[in-house]
Amino acid sequence: MSAKIIDGKAFAAEVREKVAGHVSRLKEVHGITPGLAVVLVGDDPASEVYVRNKGKQTLEAGMNSYEHKLPEDTPEADLLALVKQLNADPAVHGILVQLPLPQHIDEEKVINAITPDKDVDGFHILNVGLLGTGQKAMVPCTPLGCLMMLRDHHGSLSGLNAVVVGRSNIVGKPMAQLLLRDSCTVTIAHSRTKDLADVCRRADILVAAVGRPQMIPGDWVKPGATVIDVGINRIPAPEKGEGKTRLVGDVEFDSAAQVAGAITPVPGGVGPMTIACLLANTVTACCRANNLPEPEGLTA
Ligand code: NDP
Repeated sequence: MSAKIIDGKAFAAEVREKVAGHVSRLKEVHGITPGLAVVLVGDDPASEVYVRNKGKQTLEAGMNSYEHKLPEDTPEADLLALVKQLNADPAVHGILVQLPLPQHIDEEKVINAITPDKDVDGFHILNVGLLGTGQKAMVPCTPLGCLMMLRDHHGSLSGLNAVVVGRSNIVGKPMAQLLLRDSCTVTIAHSRTKDLADVCRRADILVAAVGRPQMIPGDWVKPGATVIDVGINRIPAPEKGEGKTRLVGDVEFDSAAQVAGAITPVPGGVGPMTIACLLANTVTACCRANNLPEPEGLTA
């Protein structure tokens, strides 16, 4: 194996430590405690785990955590009323509505009801527009985490060829915008892209955000490239016992690690950075709300 393994778990711990440092200064110097409100509708087990982890890490960073659990059949109007209440609450600096929402609720309507300054997921249409026009925005957590790891590894990204496989609103598109802002030459690939292997082979930076287990083999990777694997896929693992599973990314790790210069593993790569960046965004939102300088190294 030749690639450097980018340790997202260790990097996320560093980000959380920086966040905790900023939080303690905000408390001591300004008497402000950043607060994150997380709203969960329904009882999807995976979402419950995410929400629990977010709450735990928010408290560990010294911030206030406000959890709102609503039943599956909550009317859209009730959810919108809660969002309105959180928008007006000065103790809440960040609001996250856990997705997916039940089918009877219009996700876009709910996301766009969050005040953009508290939209720590960065999904509000105004934040999407601000990011796209190179202005100060709340940046979606997963791409922000990828960007932090890339900047840490490369220093400057200027002039590098970046290929983002996947064009979703939550990962692919904002990732491409961030790379463009850092002066990469960016290609966005998707399910209709022709000669995907060829496109990938041109990438100095290859970001895979597809959701297809091990779809990208090592021979699609340019020698020395940096590979960021966003995919989280659960596959059967009979070697661990009957009915057991394991997590893999969108990249075939073993073969890609033979050629890449650096690569993020799954698990332990992008995943841990996502919650760390949620905490970072909450501190940023808190500083902006109080007209204080933004925390260095925690924003795009
Ligand atoms: P989406 O399903 O919203 O988007 C997937 C994208 O992949 C689409 O743009 C789709 O193209 C493209 N795609 C699908 N099949 C192919 C193919 N054969 N060749 C090329 N492109 C293809 O997924 P998300 O962006 O939400 O998530 C992607 C992955 O990242 C998932 O595994 C998800 O679990 C993971 N994830 C991880 C996070 C983390 O914290 N680490 C956070 C968020 C997501 P088209 O638009 O043409 O359909």
